[in-house]
Amino acid sequence: MAEKKQQAEQLDVLASTQSVIKIALDKLGYPEEMYELMKEPIRMLTVRIPIRMDNGSTRIFTGFRAQHNDSVGPTKGGVRFHPNVTEKEVKALSIWMSLKAGIVDLPYGGGKGGIICDPREMSFRELERVSRGYVRAISQIVGPTKDIPAPDVFTNSQIMAWMLDEYSRIREFDSPGFITGKPLVLGGSHGRESATAKGVTICIREAAKKKGIDIEGARVVIQGFGNAGSFLAKFMHDAGAIVIGISDAYGGLHDPEGLDIDYLLDRRDSFGTVTKLFRETISNEELLELDCDILVPAAIENQITEKNAYSIKASIVVEAANGPTTMEATKILTDREILLVPDVLASAGGVTVSYFEWVQNNQGYYWTEEEVEGKLESVMVGSFDNIYNLAKTRKVDMRLAAYMIGVRKMAEASRFRGWV
Ligand code: NAD
Repeated sequence: MAEKKQQAEQLDVLASTQSVIKIALDKLGYPEEMYELMKEPIRMLTVRIPIRMDNGSTRIFTGFRAQHNDSVGPTKGGVRFHPNVTEKEVKALSIWMSLKAGIVDLPYGGGKGGIICDPREMSFRELERVSRGYVRAISQIVGPTKDIPAPDVFTNSQIMAWMLDEYSRIREFDSPGFITGKPLVLGGSHGRESATAKGVTICIREAAKKKGIDIEGARVVIQGFGNAGSFLAKFMHDAGAIVIGISDAYGGLHDPEGLDIDYLLDRRDSFGTVTKLFRETISNEELLELDCDILVPAAIENQITEKNAYSIKASIVVEAANGPTTMEATKILTDREILLVPDVLASAGGVTVSYFEWVQNNQGYYWTEEEVEGKLESVMVGSFDNIYNLAKTRKVDMRLAAYMIGVRKMAEASRFRGWV
């Protein structure tokens, strides 16, 4: 029953993304064939990965890799390890990656991967075997000029390192540009780990300016305390904002006076779990409806829906997660004049610095953290302005404006190649 509900929701994620792409392409004047090309990935691989578990038994894991559109360049996108991964979700995530690449103007199309597994219940060595098995299974369709993986939910730089090592063994040469989000010593980039949160922070700052909100003293609520959410909590706290709520998969913490972020960061585990240490928690549903100025969903999909959109009290919602707000809720928030910064813009800092990592790997020359941050800042501010201005001039919501900018380069490249 729960599985059915999950699948139905994820069907919505793909269908609703397709519906916005259709409107964006129509507004830009492209023919129906362009939509037919863009509504699904051009390539979708499902793999079965047999893994020897620590107790001697064999488990067969299912994995996916979706490549949405490679007209602009190689596809690029993270790999998610999660028990609820589905083919539909991976497809939608690959489309969002294409849109992000278009928005921040990278020479990529979108890709995404996932394995149905729960790394919280696996040992370190089992995780290594699954990571390596996945690379063996998809090795024919990935590579530094074909499709470049990266981290996503429940995957990290250690997993990227195993994947890189497996790929290098298969190809028999060192190939750091095969994957991004690597440890620094293996060709990772300064600033990659915190890049998504940095990009979100820049979007929050720009959105706050538009709304006349001072970041210093602004009350912030963040759902999710993993890579995106925890770095963001730190950046907001350091900027003088008051982080009054955070959450993880097991619940949320609320303190109207402000949470002790440094303490929480110190106590969180590698899966972004911290609330289990506390007796007094609130639910994730309650967290989203807290009285605050800025709300940041930074966990999973479908969190703000038509059921709770009227109860959101924030003036600004910035989507660090992919797909946290349904299309119905987008309309409600926009009608209520809540400034919604959509996922394909807000969380594009990760893929932007992943691109910087790939460029550094290709040229074999590495940048300082200041250089990376300076380049990220100008990309994010420029992209925010483009979308905000388009939304105003074309009188569309921020999500549609982002989609219009996101599809344009890919549509033009597909047209020039003679595909449509
Ligand atoms: P992560 O695995 O590091 O952390 C996920 C967090 O969400 C954890 O705190 C976890 O407890 C929480 N969570 C999981 N299930 C939940 C649930 N049902 N309810 C509430 N909280 C739940 O993942 P991440 O890398 O921080 O990614 C979070 C979101 O940001 C995802 O949507 C991801 O696609 C998106 N994103 C991440 C990056 C990146 O570079 N890490 C880039 C772009 C987008």
